[in-house]
Amino acid sequence: MLDLLMTKKIALITGISGQDGAYLAKFLLKKNYKIIGLTRTTSKNNNWRLKKLNILNKISIKKIDIRETKKLIRLFTKYKFDEVYNLAAQSYVNKSFKKPTETFKINASGTLNILKVIKDQKRKIKFYQASSSEMFGKSRKKYQNEKTLFNPRSPYAKSKAFAHHSVINYRKKYQIHAVNGILFNHESPLRGEDFVTRKITLGLSKIYFNKQKTVYLGNINLKRDWGYSEDYVTAMWKMLQTKKPKDYVIATGKTCSIKQFINEAIKVLKLKTKWIGKDLNEKLINKVNNKTIISIDKKFFRPKDVGSLKGNFNKAKKELNWKPKTSFSKLVKMMIVSDLELVKNKYKIKF
Ligand code: NAP
Repeated sequence: MLDLLMTKKIALITGISGQDGAYLAKFLLKKNYKIIGLTRTTSKNNNWRLKKLNILNKISIKKIDIRETKKLIRLFTKYKFDEVYNLAAQSYVNKSFKKPTETFKINASGTLNILKVIKDQKRKIKFYQASSSEMFGKSRKKYQNEKTLFNPRSPYAKSKAFAHHSVINYRKKYQIHAVNGILFNHESPLRGEDFVTRKITLGLSKIYFNKQKTVYLGNINLKRDWGYSEDYVTAMWKMLQTKKPKDYVIATGKTCSIKQFINEAIKVLKLKTKWIGKDLNEKLINKVNNKTIISIDKKFFRPKDVGSLKGNFNKAKKELNWKPKTSFSKLVKMMIVSDLELVKNKYKIKF
Protein backbone atom coordinates (compact mmCIF):
# COMPACT_ATOMS: atom_id res chain seq x y z
CA MET A 1 0.00 0.00 0.00
CA LEU A 2 2.81 2.36 0.95
CA ASP A 3 4.44 1.50 -2.38
CA LEU A 4 1.36 2.66 -4.26
CA LEU A 5 1.30 6.01 -2.48
CA MET A 6 4.92 6.74 -3.29
CA THR A 7 5.75 8.29 -6.69
CA LYS A 8 7.11 5.75 -9.11
CA LYS A 9 10.83 5.77 -9.85
CA ILE A 10 11.62 6.08 -13.55
CA ALA A 11 14.28 3.87 -15.11
CA LEU A 12 15.76 4.04 -18.58
CA ILE A 13 16.97 0.72 -20.00
CA THR A 14 19.01 0.88 -23.19
CA GLY A 15 19.11 -2.49 -24.99
CA ILE A 16 15.62 -3.31 -23.66
CA SER A 17 15.03 -5.83 -26.45
CA GLY A 18 18.07 -7.92 -25.46
CA GLN A 19 18.31 -10.78 -22.98
CA ASP A 20 19.26 -8.74 -19.90
CA GLY A 21 17.06 -5.78 -20.88
CA ALA A 22 13.98 -8.01 -20.84
CA TYR A 23 14.75 -9.66 -17.49
CA LEU A 24 15.75 -6.34 -15.90
CA ALA A 25 12.52 -4.72 -17.09
CA LYS A 26 10.53 -7.59 -15.54
CA PHE A 27 12.44 -7.19 -12.27
CA LEU A 28 12.01 -3.40 -12.11
CA LEU A 29 8.30 -3.58 -12.98
CA LYS A 30 7.85 -5.82 -9.92
CA LYS A 31 9.54 -3.07 -7.92
CA ASN A 32 6.95 -0.63 -9.28
CA TYR A 33 9.28 1.33 -11.57
CA LYS A 34 8.07 3.12 -14.67
CA ILE A 35 10.22 1.82 -17.52
CA ILE A 36 11.35 3.56 -20.68
CA GLY A 37 13.29 1.30 -23.02
CA LEU A 38 15.48 2.10 -26.03
CA THR A 39 15.82 0.10 -29.21
CA ARG A 40 17.17 0.85 -32.68
CA THR A 41 14.32 -0.85 -34.44
CA THR A 42 10.60 -1.05 -33.92
CA SER A 43 10.22 -4.18 -36.04
CA LYS A 44 7.68 -6.44 -34.37
CA ASN A 45 9.96 -9.50 -34.16
CA ASN A 46 12.56 -7.53 -32.23
CA ASN A 47 10.44 -7.53 -29.06
CA TRP A 48 9.97 -11.30 -28.78
CA ARG A 49 11.64 -11.48 -25.37
CA LEU A 50 9.39 -8.78 -23.85
CA LYS A 51 6.38 -10.58 -25.33
CA LYS A 52 7.54 -13.92 -23.93
CA LEU A 53 7.80 -12.39 -20.46
CA ASN A 54 4.38 -10.77 -20.92
CA ILE A 55 5.61 -7.25 -20.23
CA LEU A 56 5.64 -5.56 -23.65
CA ASN A 57 2.49 -3.53 -22.95
CA LYS A 58 3.83 -2.35 -19.58
CA ILE A 59 6.86 -0.57 -21.06
CA SER A 60 7.25 2.57 -23.12
CA ILE A 61 9.65 1.85 -25.98
CA LYS A 62 11.49 4.59 -27.87
CA LYS A 63 13.37 4.17 -31.14
CA ILE A 64 16.71 5.81 -30.29
CA ASP A 65 20.23 4.70 -31.07
CA ILE A 66 22.55 5.52 -28.14
CA ARG A 67 24.83 7.33 -30.62
CA GLU A 68 22.10 9.94 -31.30
CA THR A 69 23.00 12.68 -28.82
CA LYS A 70 20.22 15.15 -29.72
CA LYS A 71 17.51 12.53 -29.32
CA LEU A 72 19.01 11.47 -25.99
CA ILE A 73 19.01 15.06 -24.72
CA ARG A 74 15.34 15.42 -25.69
CA LEU A 75 14.53 12.15 -23.93
CA PHE A 76 16.30 13.21 -20.73
CA THR A 77 14.46 16.54 -20.82
CA LYS A 78 11.09 14.82 -21.13
CA TYR A 79 11.61 12.10 -18.51
CA LYS A 80 13.11 12.71 -15.10
CA PHE A 81 15.05 9.46 -14.88
CA ASP A 82 16.17 8.20 -11.48
CA GLU A 83 18.22 5.31 -12.82
CA VAL A 84 19.77 4.56 -16.21
CA TYR A 85 20.88 1.03 -17.14
CA ASN A 86 23.11 1.03 -20.22
CA LEU A 87 22.77 -2.48 -21.63
CA ALA A 88 22.80 -1.53 -25.32
CA ALA A 89 25.77 -2.98 -27.14
CA GLN A 90 27.09 -4.79 -30.13
CA SER A 91 27.51 -7.75 -27.81
CA TYR A 92 28.84 -10.51 -30.12
CA VAL A 93 32.58 -10.99 -29.62
CA ASN A 94 32.97 -12.80 -32.98
CA LYS A 95 31.14 -10.05 -34.87
CA SER A 96 33.41 -7.46 -33.26
CA PHE A 97 36.38 -8.87 -35.20
CA LYS A 98 34.47 -8.31 -38.45
CA LYS A 99 33.02 -4.92 -37.42
CA PRO A 100 35.53 -3.33 -35.02
CA THR A 101 34.65 0.29 -35.81
CA GLU A 102 30.91 -0.18 -35.45
CA THR A 103 31.48 -2.11 -32.21
CA PHE A 104 33.59 0.75 -30.84
CA LYS A 105 31.09 3.40 -31.92
CA ILE A 106 28.21 1.67 -30.17
CA ASN A 107 29.88 0.24 -27.06
CA ALA A 108 32.45 2.94 -26.33
CA SER A 109 31.24 6.21 -27.92
CA GLY A 110 27.59 5.34 -27.22
CA THR A 111 28.31 4.95 -23.50
CA LEU A 112 30.31 8.18 -23.44
CA ASN A 113 27.37 9.93 -25.10
CA ILE A 114 24.99 8.90 -22.32
CA LEU A 115 27.50 9.89 -19.62
CA LYS A 116 27.85 13.34 -21.19
CA VAL A 117 24.06 13.81 -21.28
CA ILE A 118 23.76 12.72 -17.62
CA LYS A 119 26.55 15.10 -16.57
CA ASP A 120 24.60 18.04 -18.05
CA GLN A 121 21.36 17.22 -16.20
CA LYS A 122 20.47 19.34 -13.18
CA ARG A 123 19.21 16.36 -11.19
CA LYS A 124 21.12 13.37 -9.81
CA ILE A 125 20.77 10.32 -12.05
CA LYS A 126 22.27 6.93 -11.18
CA PHE A 127 24.02 5.12 -14.02
CA TYR A 128 24.75 1.41 -14.50
CA GLN A 129 27.19 0.27 -17.20
CA ALA A 130 27.21 -3.29 -18.55
CA SER A 131 30.93 -4.07 -18.34
CA SER A 132 32.17 -7.51 -19.24
CA SER A 133 34.55 -10.23 -18.03
CA GLU A 134 35.88 -10.29 -21.62
CA MET A 135 37.90 -7.19 -20.60
CA PHE A 136 40.14 -9.48 -18.51
CA GLY A 137 41.05 -11.31 -21.71
CA LYS A 138 44.04 -13.58 -21.37
CA SER A 139 44.29 -13.17 -17.62
CA ARG A 140 47.23 -14.47 -15.58
CA LYS A 141 45.05 -14.73 -12.47
CA LYS A 142 43.15 -17.90 -11.58
CA TYR A 143 40.18 -15.80 -10.43
CA GLN A 144 39.40 -12.32 -11.69
CA ASN A 145 38.10 -9.64 -9.32
CA GLU A 146 37.59 -5.85 -9.40
CA LYS A 147 41.35 -5.28 -9.08
CA THR A 148 42.50 -7.67 -11.81
CA LEU A 149 44.22 -5.97 -14.74
CA PHE A 150 42.48 -5.95 -18.12
CA ASN A 151 44.15 -7.65 -21.07
CA PRO A 152 41.43 -7.41 -23.77
CA ARG A 153 41.71 -9.80 -26.71
CA SER A 154 38.91 -8.62 -29.00
CA PRO A 155 37.50 -5.35 -30.36
CA TYR A 156 34.45 -6.06 -28.18
CA ALA A 157 36.58 -6.30 -25.03
CA LYS A 158 38.52 -3.16 -25.96
CA SER A 159 35.35 -1.16 -26.53
CA LYS A 160 33.96 -2.32 -23.18
CA ALA A 161 37.23 -1.41 -21.42
CA PHE A 162 37.01 2.12 -22.86
CA ALA A 163 33.42 2.47 -21.61
CA HIS A 164 34.43 1.04 -18.21
CA HIS A 165 37.17 3.63 -17.73
CA SER A 166 34.87 6.42 -18.94
CA VAL A 167 32.44 5.49 -16.16
CA ILE A 168 35.23 5.68 -13.57
CA ASN A 169 36.39 9.06 -14.98
CA TYR A 170 32.88 10.54 -14.86
CA ARG A 171 32.35 9.20 -11.34
CA LYS A 172 35.57 10.78 -10.08
CA LYS A 173 35.53 14.01 -12.08
CA TYR A 174 31.82 14.89 -11.97
CA GLN A 175 30.66 12.95 -8.87
CA ILE A 176 28.08 11.02 -10.87
CA HIS A 177 26.67 7.94 -9.16
CA ALA A 178 27.97 5.71 -11.97
CA VAL A 179 28.93 2.05 -11.58
CA ASN A 180 30.33 -0.76 -13.68
CA GLY A 181 28.93 -4.26 -13.29
CA ILE A 182 31.68 -6.59 -14.53
CA LEU A 183 29.45 -9.48 -15.44
CA PHE A 184 30.75 -12.88 -16.41
CA ASN A 185 28.84 -14.87 -19.05
CA HIS A 186 25.18 -15.29 -18.26
CA GLU A 187 22.69 -17.24 -20.27
CA SER A 188 18.98 -18.07 -20.31
CA PRO A 189 16.26 -19.28 -22.65
CA LEU A 190 16.22 -15.66 -23.90
CA ARG A 191 19.88 -15.72 -25.02
CA GLY A 192 20.47 -14.72 -28.67
CA GLU A 193 20.63 -17.69 -31.06
CA ASP A 194 24.18 -16.87 -32.23
CA PHE A 195 25.69 -17.27 -28.76
CA VAL A 196 27.26 -20.68 -28.25
CA THR A 197 25.05 -21.90 -25.39
CA ARG A 198 21.82 -21.12 -27.25
CA LYS A 199 23.27 -22.45 -30.50
CA ILE A 200 23.79 -25.73 -28.65
CA THR A 201 20.41 -25.93 -26.89
CA LEU A 202 18.42 -24.87 -29.95
CA GLY A 203 20.47 -27.05 -32.30
CA LEU A 204 20.19 -30.13 -30.09
CA SER A 205 16.45 -29.56 -29.66
CA LYS A 206 16.06 -29.46 -33.46
CA ILE A 207 18.17 -32.62 -33.79
CA TYR A 208 15.99 -34.28 -31.14
CA PHE A 209 12.93 -33.68 -33.37
CA ASN A 210 14.79 -34.52 -36.62
CA LYS A 211 14.71 -30.91 -37.83
CA GLN A 212 18.50 -30.49 -38.01
CA LYS A 213 21.37 -32.91 -38.56
CA THR A 214 24.47 -31.41 -36.96
CA VAL A 215 25.57 -28.45 -34.81
CA TYR A 216 28.90 -26.95 -35.96
CA LEU A 217 31.03 -25.31 -33.25
CA GLY A 218 34.46 -23.75 -32.71
CA ASN A 219 36.78 -24.48 -29.78
CA ILE A 220 34.72 -26.63 -27.40
CA ASN A 221 37.49 -26.70 -24.78
CA LEU A 222 37.00 -23.02 -23.93
CA LYS A 223 35.94 -22.61 -20.34
CA ARG A 224 33.57 -19.96 -19.06
CA ASP A 225 32.00 -18.94 -15.78
CA TRP A 226 28.33 -19.31 -16.69
CA GLY A 227 25.46 -17.86 -14.66
CA TYR A 228 21.76 -17.21 -15.18
CA SER A 229 20.70 -13.81 -16.53
CA GLU A 230 17.68 -13.43 -14.23
CA ASP A 231 19.97 -13.83 -11.18
CA TYR A 232 22.39 -11.27 -12.60
CA VAL A 233 19.91 -8.44 -13.28
CA THR A 234 19.10 -8.29 -9.55
CA ALA A 235 22.80 -7.46 -8.98
CA MET A 236 22.54 -4.56 -11.47
CA TRP A 237 19.74 -3.00 -9.41
CA LYS A 238 21.51 -3.66 -6.09
CA MET A 239 24.61 -1.85 -7.40
CA LEU A 240 22.56 1.33 -7.85
CA GLN A 241 21.04 1.19 -4.36
CA THR A 242 24.34 1.57 -2.45
CA LYS A 243 25.37 4.87 -0.83
CA LYS A 244 28.74 4.99 -2.57
CA PRO A 245 29.06 4.09 -6.25
CA LYS A 246 31.50 1.22 -6.81
CA ASP A 247 32.27 -1.43 -9.42
CA TYR A 248 31.45 -5.10 -8.80
CA VAL A 249 32.28 -8.47 -10.35
CA ILE A 250 29.22 -10.67 -10.81
CA ALA A 251 29.97 -14.34 -11.44
CA THR A 252 29.45 -17.87 -10.11
CA GLY A 253 33.11 -18.58 -9.30
CA LYS A 254 32.91 -21.89 -11.19
CA THR A 255 33.88 -22.73 -14.77
CA CYS A 256 32.67 -25.32 -17.24
CA SER A 257 33.87 -25.98 -20.78
CA ILE A 258 31.61 -25.80 -23.81
CA LYS A 259 32.05 -29.58 -24.03
CA GLN A 260 30.69 -29.91 -20.47
CA PHE A 261 27.74 -27.71 -21.47
CA ILE A 262 27.02 -30.08 -24.38
CA ASN A 263 27.32 -33.16 -22.13
CA GLU A 264 24.88 -31.63 -19.64
CA ALA A 265 22.40 -30.86 -22.44
CA ILE A 266 22.71 -34.42 -23.80
CA LYS A 267 21.97 -35.73 -20.28
CA VAL A 268 18.73 -33.71 -20.16
CA LEU A 269 17.73 -35.04 -23.59
CA LYS A 270 18.63 -38.61 -22.51
CA LEU A 271 20.41 -39.26 -25.83
CA LYS A 272 22.92 -42.11 -26.14
CA THR A 273 26.07 -40.51 -27.52
CA LYS A 274 29.87 -40.85 -27.60
CA TRP A 275 32.78 -38.48 -28.35
CA ILE A 276 35.24 -39.65 -30.99
CA GLY A 277 38.33 -38.08 -32.62
CA LYS A 278 40.57 -35.25 -31.46
CA ASP A 279 40.97 -31.50 -32.02
CA LEU A 280 39.42 -30.43 -35.34
CA ASN A 281 38.22 -34.01 -35.94
CA GLU A 282 36.43 -34.35 -32.62
CA LYS A 283 32.75 -35.31 -33.02
CA LEU A 284 29.77 -36.27 -30.92
CA ILE A 285 28.03 -39.31 -32.39
CA ASN A 286 24.53 -40.58 -31.76
CA LYS A 287 25.13 -44.21 -30.78
CA VAL A 288 21.68 -45.28 -31.98
CA ASN A 289 22.05 -44.22 -35.65
CA ASN A 290 25.77 -43.38 -35.84
CA LYS A 291 24.97 -39.84 -37.04
CA THR A 292 27.18 -36.86 -36.13
CA ILE A 293 25.43 -34.53 -33.71
CA ILE A 294 28.29 -32.10 -32.98
CA SER A 295 31.14 -31.35 -35.36
CA ILE A 296 34.03 -28.86 -35.17
CA ASP A 297 34.37 -26.16 -37.82
CA LYS A 298 37.48 -23.99 -37.91
CA LYS A 299 35.42 -21.06 -39.11
CA PHE A 300 33.94 -20.67 -35.61
CA PHE A 301 37.31 -20.30 -33.88
CA ARG A 302 38.02 -16.74 -32.70
CA PRO A 303 41.17 -15.07 -34.05
CA LYS A 304 42.28 -14.62 -30.42
CA ASP A 305 40.70 -16.82 -27.82
CA VAL A 306 40.54 -15.98 -24.17
CA GLY A 307 40.93 -19.46 -22.65
CA SER A 308 39.43 -19.69 -19.19
CA LEU A 309 37.76 -16.98 -17.09
CA LYS A 310 36.57 -17.42 -13.52
CA GLY A 311 35.11 -14.60 -11.41
CA ASN A 312 35.54 -13.83 -7.73
CA PHE A 313 32.27 -12.23 -6.59
CA ASN A 314 33.20 -11.83 -2.89
CA LYS A 315 32.82 -8.05 -2.94
CA ALA A 316 29.25 -8.30 -4.29
CA LYS A 317 28.46 -11.01 -1.74
CA LYS A 318 29.73 -8.91 1.15
CA GLU A 319 28.52 -5.46 0.14
CA LEU A 320 25.41 -6.19 -1.93
CA ASN A 321 24.34 -9.43 -0.25
CA TRP A 322 24.23 -10.94 -3.76
CA LYS A 323 25.04 -14.47 -4.80
CA PRO A 324 24.01 -16.63 -7.78
CA LYS A 325 20.98 -18.83 -7.13
CA THR A 326 20.83 -21.02 -10.23
CA SER A 327 23.19 -23.97 -10.72
CA PHE A 328 24.85 -24.81 -14.04
CA SER A 329 22.79 -28.00 -14.50
CA LYS A 330 19.54 -26.15 -13.72
CA LEU A 331 20.46 -23.45 -16.25
CA VAL A 332 21.18 -25.97 -19.03
CA LYS A 333 17.97 -27.85 -18.27
CA MET A 334 15.93 -24.65 -18.36
CA MET A 335 17.36 -23.75 -21.78
CA ILE A 336 16.81 -27.23 -23.26
CA VAL A 337 13.24 -27.47 -21.95
CA SER A 338 12.43 -24.04 -23.40
CA ASP A 339 13.99 -24.83 -26.80
CA LEU A 340 12.26 -28.22 -27.06
CA GLU A 341 8.97 -26.41 -26.54
CA LEU A 342 9.93 -23.76 -29.10
CA VAL A 343 10.84 -26.33 -31.78
CA LYS A 344 7.73 -28.42 -31.02
CA ASN A 345 5.49 -25.37 -31.49
CA LYS A 346 7.33 -24.05 -34.55
CA TYR A 347 7.00 -27.32 -36.46
CA LYS A 348 3.61 -28.19 -34.88
CA ILE A 349 5.04 -31.47 -33.59
CA LYS A 350 2.65 -33.62 -31.57
CA PHE A 351 4.50 -35.13 -28.63
P1 NAP B 1 21.95 -8.52 -26.22
O1 NAP B 1 20.93 -9.58 -26.05
O2 NAP B 1 22.81 -8.56 -27.43
O3 NAP B 1 21.22 -7.11 -26.15
C1 NAP B 1 21.86 -5.91 -26.48
C2 NAP B 1 20.85 -4.99 -27.11
O4 NAP B 1 21.47 -3.75 -27.41
C3 NAP B 1 20.30 -5.49 -28.44
O5 NAP B 1 19.09 -6.17 -28.22
C4 NAP B 1 20.13 -4.22 -29.29
O6 NAP B 1 18.76 -3.97 -29.41
C5 NAP B 1 20.73 -3.10 -28.42
N1 NAP B 1 21.61 -2.21 -29.19
C6 NAP B 1 22.67 -2.57 -29.93
N2 NAP B 1 23.22 -1.48 -30.48
C7 NAP B 1 22.49 -0.41 -30.08
C8 NAP B 1 22.56 0.98 -30.31
N3 NAP B 1 23.50 1.51 -31.09
N4 NAP B 1 21.65 1.80 -29.71
C9 NAP B 1 20.68 1.28 -28.95
N5 NAP B 1 20.56 -0.04 -28.69
C10 NAP B 1 21.45 -0.87 -29.26
O7 NAP B 1 22.92 -8.49 -24.96
P2 NAP B 1 22.66 -9.04 -23.46
O8 NAP B 1 23.15 -10.43 -23.38
O9 NAP B 1 21.31 -8.70 -23.01
O10 NAP B 1 23.73 -8.17 -22.66
C11 NAP B 1 23.39 -6.88 -22.15
C12 NAP B 1 24.65 -6.07 -21.97
O11 NAP B 1 25.53 -6.73 -21.07
C13 NAP B 1 25.46 -5.84 -23.25
O12 NAP B 1 26.03 -4.57 -23.17
C14 NAP B 1 26.55 -6.90 -23.18
O13 NAP B 1 27.69 -6.51 -23.93
C15 NAP B 1 26.80 -6.93 -21.69
N6 NAP B 1 27.30 -8.21 -21.17
C16 NAP B 1 26.63 -9.36 -21.43
C17 NAP B 1 27.10 -10.55 -20.91
C18 NAP B 1 26.36 -11.85 -21.17
O14 NAP B 1 26.94 -12.91 -20.91
N7 NAP B 1 25.11 -11.80 -21.61
C19 NAP B 1 28.24 -10.56 -20.11
C20 NAP B 1 28.88 -9.35 -19.84
C21 NAP B 1 28.40 -8.18 -20.36
P3 NAP B 1 18.08 -3.41 -30.75
O15 NAP B 1 18.53 -4.30 -31.86
O16 NAP B 1 16.63 -3.52 -30.41
O17 NAP B 1 18.54 -2.01 -30.89
